[in-house]
Amino acid sequence: MTTAGGIDTGMTDKVLRGRVLTFVRRPRAFDDDGSYEFWDDGAVAISSGKIVWRGGFGDLPNDYAGMDVVDHRPGLILPGFIDAHAHYVQMRVIASYGTQLLDWLERHTFPEEARFEDAAYAEQVASHYLDELIRQGVTTAVVYGSSHKASMDAFFSEAHARGMCMIAGKTLMDRGAPAVLLDTARSGYDDSKALINAWHGKGRLHYAITPRFAITCSAQQLELAGTLLKEEEGVYLQTHLSENHDEIEETLRLYPSARDYLDVYETAGLLGERSLFGHCLHLTDRERDAMRASQSVAVFCPTSNTFLGSGLFDYDGLRDAGIPVALASDVGGGTSYSMLATAAEAYKVCQMRGYSLNPLESFYQMTRGNADALSMADQIGSIEPQCAADLIVLDSLATPAMTVRMETAESLQDELFVLQTLGDDRSITATYVAGRQLK
Ligand SMILES: [Zn+2]
Repeated sequence: MTTAGGIDTGMTDKVLRGRVLTFVRRPRAFDDDGSYEFWDDGAVAISSGKIVWRGGFGDLPNDYAGMDVVDHRPGLILPGFIDAHAHYVQMRVIASYGTQLLDWLERHTFPEEARFEDAAYAEQVASHYLDELIRQGVTTAVVYGSSHKASMDAFFSEAHARGMCMIAGKTLMDRGAPAVLLDTARSGYDDSKALINAWHGKGRLHYAITPRFAITCSAQQLELAGTLLKEEEGVYLQTHLSENHDEIEETLRLYPSARDYLDVYETAGLLGERSLFGHCLHLTDRERDAMRASQSVAVFCPTSNTFLGSGLFDYDGLRDAGIPVALASDVGGGTSYSMLATAAEAYKVCQMRGYSLNPLESFYQMTRGNADALSMADQIGSIEPQCAADLIVLDSLATPAMTVRMETAESLQDELFVLQTLGDDRSITATYVAGRQLK
């Protein structure tokens, strides 16, 4: 048995054979063949949890010729999917009927999140959540816990046991919610700091300082979040921004001196390349300029935005303005754990705005694009030497309806579009985490 970063990587040395696809940059058009590398009979050599070589199977170097070969043909081998925004503590409120953001939080979400003070309950849900990600081919996620420190100890412990690369944090909320969910500006800071000391940099885990949103955070709490962000090397910041009109109005009522919603976070020093802002649906021009100038990431959560009736994300507009974008499920406001379903909904949202998101770009976005938005493109999201062997195998013939549709598919792009439009967890036939096959 060997270990890397505290993760058991024993038995991971092997070669996967199949159709191998990885992106090298953001695709600019449906036929942008320079944006990806593809081997119809390809191989990925894995050693100690990392990719050491990839290319055509016939070109496999002698060094790897003695390794066990796992033949996934005709499966399509891709980097594992990355979900840039999700709430693991909302597994039991996903698919809740009839509300928009603020009522949805009050009626469904807050009562459920209150249960995560109980460490045993948190462990059970964290375990269910991570197993579901593996079933869906999601190998990295950026995750919100509840406001309880116990919720994050449970989550990190379960993620570490699976060897998964995760970015997560306890939500900070010192007002505007039931008392059982509230921390204080000071206790939120202290608990976050303790979690960073315990988990950040352990194995493949990373911490995200997580003020829920301006409505549930006092100015003092946001200021301390900014202090923590400056104090701690390499941590992330995640929060929500400009999701719903009532939310924006309430934020500006609570922060009367703010120029706009983003200014509340800006004043607290929360913007930057490692800062992820969920939704960004109704940004003003000034907010866009500030996002671009700080290279803060706008996170597109299409199934959540349509489910909660929040609005339509301006994907191509923000991208073309030079703002980093990421794609995410936002479970449980979002309606699916599947990044394929998320990409399918992203396509529809873009269509509603007159833009046809091409399948090369959506698959890029779910892999290398999201890795790039997380400043982790050197570690995950690509099938490149030195990247973690977080890999999935996709089956485009997973259902009878897909098989019939695939009879008329003429290109890789067609196949990817069928996968995202008709596929689900049945299309994920294998999930490897640091070289270990977990599905
Ligand atoms: Zn969210």
